[in-house]
Amino acid sequence: MSVVVQKYGGSSVADVSKMRRVAERVMQTKKLGHDVVVVVSAMGDTTDELLALATQVTPNPERRELDMLLSAGERIAMALLSMAIRELGGDAISFTGSQSGIITNDRHVDARIVEVRPFRGQDELGRGRIVVIAGYQGVSYRREVTTLGRGGSDTTAVAMAAALGAEYCEICSDVDGVYSADPRVVPATKRIGTLSYEETQELAEAGAKVLNAQAVEFAKEKGIAIYARATSGPLPGPDPSTDGTVVRLNPPRMPGRVVGVAIEKDLLLVESTAPLSDLLSALDERGVAGKQLRHLGSATALIVSRENLHEEARVRALLAERFGDRVHLTDGLGAVSAIGAGINASFENVRLGTATLASAKLHAHDLATSSFRITWTLDRTHLDTAARMLHRTFIEENREVAP
Ligand code: ASP
Ligand code: MG
Repeated sequence: MSVVVQKYGGSSVADVSKMRRVAERVMQTKKLGHDVVVVVSAMGDTTDELLALATQVTPNPERRELDMLLSAGERIAMALLSMAIRELGGDAISFTGSQSGIITNDRHVDARIVEVRPFRGQDELGRGRIVVIAGYQGVSYRREVTTLGRGGSDTTAVAMAAALGAEYCEICSDVDGVYSADPRVVPATKRIGTLSYEETQELAEAGAKVLNAQAVEFAKEKGIAIYARATSGPLPGPDPSTDGTVVRLNPPRMPGRVVGVAIEKDLLLVESTAPLSDLLSALDERGVAGKQLRHLGSATALIVSRENLHEEARVRALLAERFGDRVHLTDGLGAVSAIGAGINASFENVRLGTATLASAKLHAHDLATSSFRITWTLDRTHLDTAARMLHRTFIEENREVAP
C-alpha cells in the first residue's frame, strides 16, 4: 500500500474545530486506501508564545532548555490530533520526534536531521494505524531533545516521507501553495504551479515563508515530490499543480526568468577587521550560523538571520569583549531577493533590479548573487516597497508567468 505523509501547519490546527477538520481530511485520505503518516506543528502561535515566556524569565535562555520548552508545543498538538482522529472512528497513535526515530546532530534550537529510524511508525502502519508525529523535533545521538529551527515541521515531514518511501509529501497550510511573492505584501502575486527543488530552496533561503529550506534539500536528495496545498481544499487530484504547488524534479525553465521575489525581515550585518578565524570561532562557540559570508582583503562582512539567534545579548557581549571596535554590528536590516534559475547568466537582471530600486531612491547596503538568486540588503522599512517594485518589474511586466 502506498504511504502518504501529510504535514499540517500551526494555523491549520490553531483551535479544536480546525483540528477536527484536519482529522476529517486525514480520514478521507485513509479511506482512499493509503497508509497515512501525519506530521503536525504546534497550535497557532504556540511556539512564539513559548519563546516569549522564556524571554520573560531570562534575556539569554539556554538553547538546551529552549528545546525542552519549544518541543512541548508539537507534543500538545500531536496528542490532540490523535484524539480527534480516534473520535472520528480512526485508529491513530501519536509519537514524539524521538519516538518516531528522528535522530539529529547535537546543535540545540537549529539541529539537523542526520538519520531517520522509522521502525516504530512502520510497525504501526502495518497494524493499519494512522501515525501522528510531532514535527520540528528530534533526539540527538547524545539523547538530548532537539528542535530543527523555525518552520522545522516541514523537515520532519519530508525526512519521514523519504525514510518511508512515501508516494508524496503534502504540506498543508492556510494558503493553497507557493506564490511568486508574499500575497500580504504584493497584491499582484500569483500561485506557482510547479517549482524545481532548487528554485524552492532558494526561495526558502531568501526568507519566503513557503517551505523549510532543509526540508526541500531532503526532498531533492531522495526525489520526493512535495505538494503544497490548502488544508481547506480538496485532496490532491491527478494534477495537483492545478490547485496547489508541486515541487519536484522539473525540466529547466527558460533560463534567466525570475519566478519569485522573497523578503527576509530581520537581519544583522556583522562587519569585522578581526582575523577571520577568530571571528568565526567566536560565533561557532555560541552556535551562530551565518547566511552569507564575504571576506575581502582583511575585512569580513557576514549576514546573520535573527530568527534562530536566541542568545543575542550574550553574542553581542562576547564580540565586544573579544574584538572591541574591530567588530561592528548593524541591525534594522532586511533583504529582498529575486529568484530564478540562471538569472545571473548576464548582468541584465542585476542591472534591471538595481535600477528599479534606485528609481525609488532605495540603495542597497549589500548586493550578492548566486546562480539562482540576486539579494539586495536594505533598511527593513523599505522591504515591502522594494518587493512590490521588483515583482512588478520582473514578473508582472515583461516576463511570462511561470507555468
Ligand atoms: N512550531 C514551529 C514553528 O513555529 C515549527 C513549525 O511550525 O514547523 O516554527
Ligand atoms: Mg509553528
